[in-house]
Amino acid sequence: MRTRKRAWPPSSRSGKASGRGAEPLPFEHENTRREKMKIAFIGLGNMGGGMAANLVKAGHEVNAFDLADEALHSAAEHGCTTFDDAGAACQGVDAVVTMLPSGAIVKSVYEGSVFGHAPAGAVLIDCSTIDVATAREVISNAEAAGYDMVDAPVSGGIAAANGGTLTFMVGGTEKAFNRAKEVLDPMGKAVIHAGDAGAGQTAKICNNMLLAVTMIGTGEALKMADKLGLDPQKFFEISSQSTGYCWPLNDYTPLPGVGKQSPADNDYKGGFAAALMRKDLRLAMQAAQNVGAVTPLGKHAAEIYEEFAEESGGLDFSAVIKTL
Ligand code: NAD
Repeated sequence: MRTRKRAWPPSSRSGKASGRGAEPLPFEHENTRREKMKIAFIGLGNMGGGMAANLVKAGHEVNAFDLADEALHSAAEHGCTTFDDAGAACQGVDAVVTMLPSGAIVKSVYEGSVFGHAPAGAVLIDCSTIDVATAREVISNAEAAGYDMVDAPVSGGIAAANGGTLTFMVGGTEKAFNRAKEVLDPMGKAVIHAGDAGAGQTAKICNNMLLAVTMIGTGEALKMADKLGLDPQKFFEISSQSTGYCWPLNDYTPLPGVGKQSPADNDYKGGFAAALMRKDLRLAMQAAQNVGAVTPLGKHAAEIYEEFAEESGGLDFSAVIKTL
């Protein structure tokens, strides 16, 4: 018997604003600091928009900046004060948080609009997924300019950003981590100190390389079971309680109607886009090459997502099963 599935996605920005029954609200995390801070938030897209809204809900004053008007309008609706210049948004703040598309943009935003604009005592937090080398370089430049700074990429997609349940993996000094944690707590369910500068990005790309490999493997096993005449639901029931246990099988099953509710049950819409997985795998392959790490399965997964993302039309990364 199949158990009744919950709706996908599990939460939305608008859903959160209207309340979620008995579930604790993001700002009710027991470790959330109650002291009000002034925080600049730069990059209010799919992820940053919900994250900034959660900082407002936690009682902080948020200065928001994005190049897109639409993102700024939405931020204003969620209680942020909007600016038409990133440097102006950083004036007089206690912290700066960035959630941007790439390492080159992160570098240019910090060098052009944060350093020298944010007060020297501010803690700087980059939550974007970028390459390890650029993360280290920007943090080193921040420290030279007198700032505490961390790289703090996230695990969890748009629903987790909206719901305040991201996992932050943080690289930087102990002091910078402790300061950043106070800012990150209302946006996440876990804030983990991974190590020195760049360690957050390292954790992120290694995690996502593993995720890509296990997602493809899960798809292969489900499809092969089916071809051999075994009901995929029965295979799920067995393998999810056996040594085949893994997150893509147990919690994000890539076949419609099998396992828990996931993007597969929504025509593979929502979730984590295949193009973002391709981006993370490119970063992982670049890092592996830099240090001479041997990653044959990661390399093959990167090739598969390189091809699939091109034709995926914005679908979730679990839709890779369709190509198998
Ligand atoms: P997005 O494209 O929706 O948002 C990025 C925002 O940055 C946009 O609103 C854009 O206008 C803005 N921006 C670009 N250049 C700017 C600049 N110079 N100054 C100010 N704003 C600028 O992307 P996203 O999905 O929110 O992802 C953001 C980061 O989070 C990426 O690094 C991504 O890899 C990472 N990430 C995304 C997800 C996800 O599910 N979307 C999950 C984990 C991590």
